[in-house]
Amino acid sequence: MPAAAHIDRTCILDAALVPIADKVERGERLTTTDGVTLFQSGDLNTIGALADAVNRAKHGNRVTFAANQHINPTNICILRKTCVFCSYAKLPKEDGAYRYTLEQTLAEAKTANSTMTREFHIVGGLDMKAGLDYYVEMFRALKREHPQVHIKALTAVEIAHIARIDKMSIRDVLITLHAAGLDTMPGGGAEVFSPGVRATIADKKLSGEEYIDVHRTAHSLGIRSNCTMLYGHVETFEDRMNHLAMLRELQDETGGYLAYIPLAYHPDNNELGLTLGRTGLATSGFDDLKNLAVGRLFLDNIEHIKSHWIMVTPSISQVSLSFGVNDLEGTVVREKIYHEAGAHTAQAMTLDAILDLIRGAGKVPAERDSFYNVIRSFPAVITSEARGELAPRSASDEELSEAHQTAAA
Ligand code: SF4
Repeated sequence: MPAAAHIDRTCILDAALVPIADKVERGERLTTTDGVTLFQSGDLNTIGALADAVNRAKHGNRVTFAANQHINPTNICILRKTCVFCSYAKLPKEDGAYRYTLEQTLAEAKTANSTMTREFHIVGGLDMKAGLDYYVEMFRALKREHPQVHIKALTAVEIAHIARIDKMSIRDVLITLHAAGLDTMPGGGAEVFSPGVRATIADKKLSGEEYIDVHRTAHSLGIRSNCTMLYGHVETFEDRMNHLAMLRELQDETGGYLAYIPLAYHPDNNELGLTLGRTGLATSGFDDLKNLAVGRLFLDNIEHIKSHWIMVTPSISQVSLSFGVNDLEGTVVREKIYHEAGAHTAQAMTLDAILDLIRGAGKVPAERDSFYNVIRSFPAVITSEARGELAPRSASDEELSEAHQTAAA
């Protein structure tokens, strides 16, 4: 049962939202129909206020972030022709196709030694030559060289791919990868579960039920994960809500999800963007905020809602902190996937920048680990003493910034 939250009703402009506000105030679970009503409403401020009230009841004024580093070891993907929204994948012989050797992966991971990285976020394409052995070797080597860094790796789609090419069960693949060093799984690959939408944007990809099954198996093995939804392409509001309902149902069953992260579709450099005539236009800020707020309101059993600033811009992420969001994607080094799709944001944010962003929203920043335990709190307002304490970190930030310059060159 969600926690009850106090609602200021004076701000409600759309009468259709009153029954939903009543439910939020009583701590009653929302239905998918309520979710569709929220998506249909133009009363964004009320939707934000409702989500903010729920978020404050759970997390107060605290906003967390993790210092992570993205590694995308291969962009070779057998679904290159059928995931029409993807700008990242290549066929093996296509210009720009790459697959890291172990040495290349370790060289890229090396930045973790001189920065504050506490997590590797590792995802890539469905590469026929990147099977179980490739990842076992990678995870063991990363753990050997960076034992303090958590490995969050491989979407449900990649796990199923490895199981297929190595002719193993999902369960056995997960057991082996877990033993090699995989700590948790990211939530990518979910897109939108509706079979109709999948047939249009990702015809040959794992089905929604199969995605849920991989996560169910992971949770049963003690591997926690995140969950996502890719919005802003051909899906309807009903598709969005049915997707969220499947996530909520699995969470009721396993409790294994750590966070929900809505992902904004980016139309540059992919076939779907051309078909929709939307090249150059990403989602609207209005829709970005609504997806985050509806996620907060509907997914009452998922503790954390994260905004991915790379996709929606740091400014929207900052505003989202008043729309139900309690966690920001951290300092990200060398993100490739969204930048191929036209994201114009930076590839890394320094510690000072993320602290300023959170403080600028009137919130209190805290660094967390990959399980959302707070490991370092920061003052709500920066003092000169605190600036002094942060000096060693600022030096690391310069290196992060340097890494970004290199990647962008
Ligand atoms: S979205 Fe993932 S599975 Fe689909 S083509 Fe891109 S990398 Fe491959």
